[in-house]
Parts: sequence; C-alpha cells; structure tokens
Amino acid sequence: MVYKWLNNVQNWLLPHTCALCGQPGQDKLSLCIDCHNDLIFIDNYCKQCAIPLPETATGEICGQCLRHPPAFDTTISLFAYQPPISRLLQALKFHDKLGHARLLGTLLATALSDRMAQRPDCILPVPLSRKRLRERGFNQSLELARPLSRRLDIPIMANLLKRVRHTAPQIQLKYQQRRSNIRNAFELGTDPLPAHIAIIDDVMTTGSTCNEMALVLKAAGVERVDIWTIARAFK
Ligand SMILES: [Zn+2]
Ligand SMILES: [Zn+2]
Repeated sequence: MVYKWLNNVQNWLLPHTCALCGQPGQDKLSLCIDCHNDLIFIDNYCKQCAIPLPETATGEICGQCLRHPPAFDTTISLFAYQPPISRLLQALKFHDKLGHARLLGTLLATALSDRMAQRPDCILPVPLSRKRLRERGFNQSLELARPLSRRLDIPIMANLLKRVRHTAPQIQLKYQQRRSNIRNAFELGTDPLPAHIAIIDDVMTTGSTCNEMALVLKAAGVERVDIWTIARAFK
C-alpha cells in the first residue's frame, strides 16, 4: 500500500513523461503530442452501446440495441480496446500504474465536456467484489472517476451499489456466459439514489455488467443511466 502511495506521489512530483514513448508530456499530461495525435477515437458509434456503426448506417442506434434495448440510456467510449490503449489499461489494472488512470480519466473528461448531452447527478464507479479489491488493492474504475469528478465537477458516489457476489472476470467468458455470470451480482447500498447516474468503467465488452447495474438502479427508480468507459471491445 505504501509502495502504491509513493508511486502516486511520484506521478505528481516528477515532470510528466509520455506513458507510451517516454518523451516529455504536454498539457501536464503523461502523453506527448505525437502519441496524442496517433490515438484513434471512436467517432461514428451507436449512441446507446458505443459499438462502431458501419459507414453506411443511417440511424444512431445499432441493430442489436434496437432489437434488445439495454437498461442503460447512452454510452460514451473513447477508444477501441486495442494497443496502445489496451496496454495502458492492463498496466493500470495489473501493474498498479495508477498514473495511467489520471491520464485516461482526463482524456475522457475532455471528450465528455463536448459530448455529454445531459450532466448526471453523480458518477458511480463499477464496484469490485471485496475479494478482488483485496487482491488488487484499488478499484481502477474509482481511480478513473477521480480526475473526471474533479474536471467535470460531478460528485463520485461509490456506495450506491454493492457487489455482493464475486464473479469470474467477464473477459475470460464466452458471450452467453457473461449474462448469467453477472446476474444478481449487485445490490443497492443505503445512500439515496439520484435521478441521473453515470457509471464509469475501464472497458465495455458486451455491456452485461453495466446492464445489470442499470437494471438494479432503474428498478429502484433511477430515471437515467449513462455509461462512460475508456475503451470499447468488439469483434
Ligand atoms: Zn509519446
Ligand atoms: Zn448499440
């Protein structure tokens, strides 16, 4: 824990170097201008689930969302889940590179200040189970939420939902297994629920986790649930 804390302090004190190539960063971010220019943002995407739409698409919602609308209302994902972004997210989660959360959260905040249609009342990081939190020592979604909250001036309410069941990592499962894996994994906390909540996660894959959270929140009276993620995985 002390080691992680020191790591964090170092990130604040040392001059920013690019997390991807080691050149000096720009705008107080650990990203240089060249690497920033090379990033490929998802631009033509389904407004509900953020899957890229074919160039020929005329509507704003993908066929899957039209046929089976998810419980959440909109999704904004910045990048496709592929290198170099996938490398940064893996280093954040598995190698304690908490500085990457500040970089990625700040990039997301900048995009959101343009793209956000309606300001949510709070930001809800996807909760980890106690077991996973003990193993990892931190919740990457909460770390991503911090710079967002500061930049957008929207409070974090991390205790609205509790993860009551430890589940296998979704990424290791086949599509059909993901829904049943995550079912009943969340329960309401005791805090009063605001009307409009934005859920933050690192990667959206099938959207099952966010869908399950949105189902619980909406059943309890929440009117609108938006999803914000750094990356979107798709085949
Ligand atoms: Zn660079
Ligand atoms: Zn969709």
